[in-house]
Amino acid sequence: MAIKADKIWFDGKLVDWDEANVHVLTHTLHYGLGAFEGIRAYKTSDGRSAVFRLKEHTRRLFDSAKILGMEIPFTEEEINNAIIETLKANKLEEGYIRPLVFVGAGAMGVHPGTNPIRVAIATWPWGAYLGDDALLKGIRVKTSTFTRHHVNIMMTKAKACGNYVNSVLAKTEAVADGYDEAVLLDTEGYVAEGSGENIFIVRNGIIKTTPLTSILAGLTRNSVIELARDLGYTVVEERFTRDKLYIAEEAFFTGTAAELTPIREADRRTIGEGQAGPVARKLQEEFFKVVKGENPKYEHWLDYYTI
Ligand SMILES: *Cc1c(COP(=O)(O)O)cnc(C)c1O
Repeated sequence: MAIKADKIWFDGKLVDWDEANVHVLTHTLHYGLGAFEGIRAYKTSDGRSAVFRLKEHTRRLFDSAKILGMEIPFTEEEINNAIIETLKANKLEEGYIRPLVFVGAGAMGVHPGTNPIRVAIATWPWGAYLGDDALLKGIRVKTSTFTRHHVNIMMTKAKACGNYVNSVLAKTEAVADGYDEAVLLDTEGYVAEGSGENIFIVRNGIIKTTPLTSILAGLTRNSVIELARDLGYTVVEERFTRDKLYIAEEAFFTGTAAELTPIREADRRTIGEGQAGPVARKLQEEFFKVVKGENPKYEHWLDYYTI
């Protein structure tokens, strides 16, 4: 399904959606050095809208750029304001936000030289990433034949464009094989994460998630850990093997796009009851309350705006 909105913020100003184009010799298009973010805005219960964890996402965009040696020609505050401006220009009460930092055209060697660092922000309406049923019923996953990045080959703390070749390979393999999503193992064989989601398992009431060593530090992961601890759950960040996933009582993915998506089956083994389990459902409920502004304790995660 093609996505569309009216405007895209591009290098400091709003341009028409169809005019937000680049030259084919854009450096990032060839070599993958670029960084992006995935952010969501939700309609809040008081009739306004709010971007979820806007400042942290923008901070991570700048961190990614720094890791990749790219200097963003805007301040974090300018990007925060530009995101709200783009949502308003597109009259989006809720939706997905995609900031992208990339190396423009100029020199064509591997060294990016003095090529311009360009910034675009697109926003569009986007529902449940893994399908409407996924949030309720859970999804089926497959251990990928592709290994997740080694920490000294790709920069795993950067949400880097080039890192996503690995994600696209894993995702298309999983879908071609009849699954909804891939689970990638790290270079030592432990469970790492999904193609664009962090992963959690539950056993004996204890929630376990992969430590931050080789995975992307998801803000949804961070939010869910905090919410779970607040609800009295024990959460441990500890690596685990794929067979631990098979015998989990519950498993779920977190991510801005996937939100909190239960995993009902892994490598043809039913997880728990084969549907969203009680812990996943409770955390989903809390998460959606927070993003809709229904939990005053987490107001600081919301940046409100009105159309
Ligand atoms: C973006 C991403 C996530 C999820 O991060 P959020 O901040 O929760 O959206 C997880 N893993 C990878 C590889 C990602 O790129």
